[in-house]
Amino acid sequence: MRAAEELAKRQRESPLGQSGDRVHSLFQSLPPMSDAQFEKVRSSANLAVGEMNLRQPNAKTFHFPDGSHLITIFSGLIDFYSFACQILMQAGTFHTEKGAEEGRSIEDLIIDLKELFLTWTPQGIQENLPSGAILSPLDPARIADANILLNGALRFILCHELGHVRFYDPARNEANRPALTAEQETISDTTGMQAALLSDPGLGAIRMNLAGCVMSLRILAVFGTLGHTFTGDHPDPLSRVNNIFAALRPFCESQAQYWWVSPIAYAFDELLETAGQRATGGPDVLPILADRAFSRLASALEEVMKGRQEKTIIVPLMAREFEEATPEQLKEIAEYAAEIFAANAFARLYAGQKWAEKGAIFRSLYHEWPARAVAAFDEAFKARKPGA
Ligand SMILES: [Zn+2]
Repeated sequence: MRAAEELAKRQRESPLGQSGDRVHSLFQSLPPMSDAQFEKVRSSANLAVGEMNLRQPNAKTFHFPDGSHLITIFSGLIDFYSFACQILMQAGTFHTEKGAEEGRSIEDLIIDLKELFLTWTPQGIQENLPSGAILSPLDPARIADANILLNGALRFILCHELGHVRFYDPARNEANRPALTAEQETISDTTGMQAALLSDPGLGAIRMNLAGCVMSLRILAVFGTLGHTFTGDHPDPLSRVNNIFAALRPFCESQAQYWWVSPIAYAFDELLETAGQRATGGPDVLPILADRAFSRLASALEEVMKGRQEKTIIVPLMAREFEEATPEQLKEIAEYAAEIFAANAFARLYAGQKWAEKGAIFRSLYHEWPARAVAAFDEAFKARKPGA
């Protein structure tokens, strides 16, 4: 098979680093895909998959005249993802058998991520991190989570690339058009996201795998703003990030489930975008987004409900949004809240998620919110009340 020979040749000519091929065994561990056409490609004997030692942050699929295909992810991209995962995993309070351990501040993480983005050059990702060693050692539990996050990102990229084999059409390439239509690219992203999420059914892993998918695309989007030109194969990564969140909604049974699986994805996406904006010399803070604001509120309530944080963290955390969001954004945030915090909502279906309990904590803080936020929430809750 030409594809396998080509991969072996490239790995011989430019040997991989200490960790060996970080893509091949991960691909072997992918469970069967639910889409029959993608599954046919995944299990095909004419497919070779592996890492290539190139510094450009790319993934690329090659097609050969004997009908074989080679999917590769370049070392520069994997290294970058790996560093980003280690930095992101230093965030927040971490709970181990030894008790709660405070992570580094959000501001410190943003600075580290910004430094990391500056290792991008037009020739690819620098092999060495900037001076001032930005990584502090992680404890074993955080290393495990960083690996789940990294593998989620790589699984997503691999499954997306399967789409480049599934939809391969030599006539399109000869006509010098993008390899896939925009619709085929979106199908590949959606299928890739679902495959990454289904690769491990544990709740924590689902959240982390989703965060990996979003992280992989957000990082590419930042490279785009830094000046990286993508090979003509893929559409603009920024629209792909938005598509992933849009594709997640119908994949979830309810709004509650959507907000239940997505908090880490939203949080990491915001950190990466903020760092990327600063790396290009932009403002320190991002414009307000209703989805991100609500996700942050829901995560804070979950932490308080689990007894991991004091209730006093919530009001300062939401102050900027509640004071500065547009009336439309406030309405959107309030409608999400009304839908899933209403007492007894999902009490039976989602007992483990304790939305009603989170709603009670949320309402107990009413007297501390700005008046405009209280008005928006009151209106949304009234509109939801059965029979009202
Ligand atoms: Zn693509």
